[in-house]
Amino acid sequence: FNTIDILTVPFINTTQEAFLSAVEDRVTTRKNTFVVTANPEIVMYAQDDAHYMSLLQNADYVTPDGIGIIKGAAILGTTLPERITGYDVLLDLLKWGNDAHRSAYFVGAKQSVIDALTPILATKYPNLNVKGIRNGYFDDFAPIAADIATKQPDMVFLAVGFPKQEQLIADYRHQNNGLWMGVGGSFDVLSG
Ligand code: UDP
Repeated sequence: FNTIDILTVPFINTTQEAFLSAVEDRVTTRKNTFVVTANPEIVMYAQDDAHYMSLLQNADYVTPDGIGIIKGAAILGTTLPERITGYDVLLDLLKWGNDAHRSAYFVGAKQSVIDALTPILATKYPNLNVKGIRNGYFDDFAPIAADIATKQPDMVFLAVGFPKQEQLIADYRHQNNGLWMGVGGSFDVLSG
């Protein structure tokens, strides 16, 4: 996809449908893929943190998460077709993963959220192979990354909030050739 820079963050200039299709192809062929769904808060944070900005600029896809980004593009005289939010992408990929019998690994949120989420995933997505699911309160991600490296899930969803989730993905993505995506508070929403 071509990209449109908003305050130097390169947003993909495409529809949610075309984006999902590209991601699904990459997951199917086990290509290492880092997705950031960036909202205005993320764009503003990156203005003052050059390292975080470089993480965004080195992701495979940055999507416009919310109407604020679409409006920002318009103010800057460009057009992005539609918002592509983290929560919508997560739901679509879970549905696709269920239909296509793919696997996923979930890290993030509180243990109570994980306890509620586990049966919901099993009921809604019975053909999705959940290779791991754990809370986002850990001291060291290395053992979790080692487990991911062993199990090789097709998709890793990391819900520990920004900027931490993007930093962890940048540090550990090489250990599993699949999708890595930060999904912020999405597990909280999905679980209740
Ligand atoms: N969280 C976590 N570990 C932490 C800090 C936060 O798992 O060390 C979780 C928190 O429980 C919540 C999510 O990360 O589920 C952050 O949600 P938020 O909507 O604040 O996401 P953001 O907009 O910061 O990306």
